[in-house]
Formats: sequence, C-alpha cells, structure tokens
Amino acid sequence: MAFQSGRSTNGQPVCYLSAMAHVNLLDQPDVRRRLDQCIHCGLCLPACPTYSVVHLEMDSPRGRIALMRAAADGRIALEGAFEEHIDLCLGCRACESACPSGVQYGLLLETAKAALSAEVRTSHSSSPAPRPSHAIQAFGLRQLLPHRRRLRLLARGLSIYQRLGLAKLVQRMLPKLSSALTTMESMVPPVDLNYLDESQPAPAIGLRRGKVAFFAGCVQDAFLAGVNRATVRVLQRNGYEVHFPQEQTCCSAAALHSGDTAFARALARRNLDAFAGDDWVALINNAGGCGAALKGYDHLLADDPLYATRARAFVANVKDISEFLADHLHNPPTGYVQARVTYLDSCHLRHGQKVSTQPRALLRAIPGVQLIEGTQPDMCCGSAGIYNLVQPEMANQVLDNKLADVRSTGAGIIATANTGCYMQMVYGVKRGRINARVMHIIELLERSYANAG
Ligand code: SF4
Ligand code: SF4
Repeated sequence: MAFQSGRSTNGQPVCYLSAMAHVNLLDQPDVRRRLDQCIHCGLCLPACPTYSVVHLEMDSPRGRIALMRAAADGRIALEGAFEEHIDLCLGCRACESACPSGVQYGLLLETAKAALSAEVRTSHSSSPAPRPSHAIQAFGLRQLLPHRRRLRLLARGLSIYQRLGLAKLVQRMLPKLSSALTTMESMVPPVDLNYLDESQPAPAIGLRRGKVAFFAGCVQDAFLAGVNRATVRVLQRNGYEVHFPQEQTCCSAAALHSGDTAFARALARRNLDAFAGDDWVALINNAGGCGAALKGYDHLLADDPLYATRARAFVANVKDISEFLADHLHNPPTGYVQARVTYLDSCHLRHGQKVSTQPRALLRAIPGVQLIEGTQPDMCCGSAGIYNLVQPEMANQVLDNKLADVRSTGAGIIATANTGCYMQMVYGVKRGRINARVMHIIELLERSYANAG
C-alpha cells in the first residue's frame, strides 16, 4: 500500500507533519480537482526543461500529473518511480504558463513534495532512515536559511577564503571529493560584505512619496549584498523611505520546495508578524523565487484562523522591484550605460508571478542599453533553489541549453531578477567560458543613476 492509516510506529500520537503521513495528501478534494483539470493535451511538453533534455513522458508535466493521480488512487507507492520523477522536476512552472486548461502545477508539486516528505522521508514510515542528502537539506532549511546572522557569518568565512586565494587550490582538490561542492564553490561571486545599515530607515531622496518595507532575503542578503544596496538606493532615488522590519526571516520557498509545509507555514507567520502594523506603500522584494513564495502566503495559511485574513492583505501589497517601479519610476534613469544586455526570466517571476514585461521595460529605460533577447529567455537555467546541488547532472544539461542561448546573443551582460539565477549564471559563464558579466537588473539601473552624477 502506498499510504498507511493509523498511528505512528510506536503507537503514540504524532506531530503535525508526521500526522500528515497517515493521510493520502494527494487524495484530497481540492487536489483531485486540480489533477482533473489536466486534459492530457501535451501542450506543456515543449516548455518543460526536463522533457526537453530526456524526452521521457514521466519527466514531463503531463507524466508527473499522471503519477500524482496514480498515487492519489493508491495504485503506486511514493517510493521509487514517483519519488524519482517528482524529484527531477525543477518546479519552474513553465508548464503552468503553457497550459490552456489552467492546471496549477506549482500547487500540485508542493502537495506531492509534502506527501513525499511525510511518507518517505520521515523516520515514521516503514522506509529506511532519511538519506544523508535529505538530512543535509533539512539542516540547511532549518538551521541556516531562517538565520540571517548565521548566513552572514558563513559569507564572512567565505570572503576570507576567497581573499587568501584558497579558491584555486580547493577547485583543484574538490573534484576528487564531490562535484556538488565544486558547483557550490563556483556559484559564489566574490563576496561583498558591505551590508546595508538596517538599524534605521533609509531616507527618501528629493520629494518624499511614501514609505516601503524591504524584504532582504536570506542567501540574497548574505552573498549578494550589492543587489540589496542597489534596490534600496533606487527606491530612495524615486522618493521612497525604505524600512527594514527587523524580525523578518526566510520567505519559505526552500521549505515548500522540500515538502516541509509545517515549517514553511511557521516562517510565513513570522514574516506576517514582522511586516505587520504599518502603512507601507508596498512590500518590496528583488528575488523572483522569494516573491512567488511571499505571494503564496494566502494559500499557505488559508485555513489558519489567526493569519488567513492578514495573509491576504499582505499578499496584495507584495511587489517585485520591477513590478513596483513599472508604476513608480518617478525619476527615470538618465546616465549612459553602453552595454549589450540579455535578460533571463526568473521562472518564479515570470511563471509564478506573471511579471515579464516590467523587467524588460526597466532595461529599455536605461540610456545606452541594447536589450538582446535569446530564443528561450523563459526557459529555466537549472538553478531551482538547491536543485543544481542535488540533481547536478540534469541541472548541468539544462544549464548548457541556457548557455548556448546566451552565447548566441553576444551579450556582455546577463541580467537576472532572482538570487538562484544570478548564482547559477556566475557558475554558468565559468562553465561555458562566456565573456559576460552577471548583474541583477536593479544593479544596472543603479549604475545608470550613478553615471548621471
Ligand atoms: S515545473 Fe518545470 S520541470 Fe517541472 S514539470 Fe513543469 S515545466 Fe517541467
Ligand atoms: S498543457 Fe495542461 S492540460 Fe495539457 S497536458 Fe499539460 S498540464 Fe495537462
């Protein structure tokens, strides 16, 4: 049987997450309704990065939905093929944009991951103990990502390592140890430790138009400080006072993608508390993955009697920086930036938040920037959270397709709108020996303002 009912193996009542292990999460009315929306047309297949690489039905959206339906019926176990094909999904949601039937694949995938987490990856199931990779993942999710100080400490350690010139030595040594570690090492740009002073709001420059709250992110905050500085500076230049709610934490995207729904809900509640009680014009973030998670709090906490209403109000006010500036660019940039730029859509910004024209409009607003589109700018780069670390083979094949597309544009700057994409392309330009620099669109915008003097 794929799903067992009853109590835990020791007969005791179990915690929230393990209690879910005894329920077939895929056999719930709302999940069934979403599964039944799939009409098997196959229009999503060409949009799917994993299907494009392996051309296997089970590694396509339609195939994965069929697996979920079989698991919902109890016809297959979660261990084995189901786990393998669900784990190989990038969660990019390109299939959602391609689907004529409105299948909410992202929500289905979250349920499948939660089912796997509850049934297969907990010590309460009849399966063996969780694998080391899952234990490392769980440690990172719970002990690192929600703790900005710990991540900054890690960044400081990495900075020392980079300044002492140990990188080349480790690059020579690491392939013998682990390709995942090599990838991780190659993804990190020179660490910038010039963190924002968040002890007080950053004042508006010129005419004050209101105050916004800034969501700093976790990895973004620790390892890409320049992106956050540029974001805040651009907001100031457009008349906004920028506030930094102190108790904010990780957006919960990584927890959700790992099936740790209970922890994702806990993080969401913490963020709702942190950003409560003020009249923000908007809650600004600059990472597509974080923004999609923040905008999903209404769904995540829909059945929470204390937080459901607050979550809906919060979601209505969350804006990606490019989405916000599309309506609030009061002082357009005037400084010249001579550059051929190609923009890579963040999957969770484009497919999750339906924001694709605004980043391009911002880039076109910069004097001197020539925007050159690739043939598939909306195809995933293979980053997908920590996918490139846990599924390096597929991630590299997806990345190689992306690199070929980037190379064909001849661009000198690769513009991104998400932390994971940024770091994946830092690795990508090294892997593909492409002579291009990776920048967030907001860094380009800030450079234009700075060039205007
Ligand atoms: S989320 Fe991306 S990788 Fe997964 S099935 Fe959809 S298109 Fe394919
Ligand atoms: S495009 Fe939508 S309806 Fe068609 S097979 Fe894919 S998920 Fe199903």
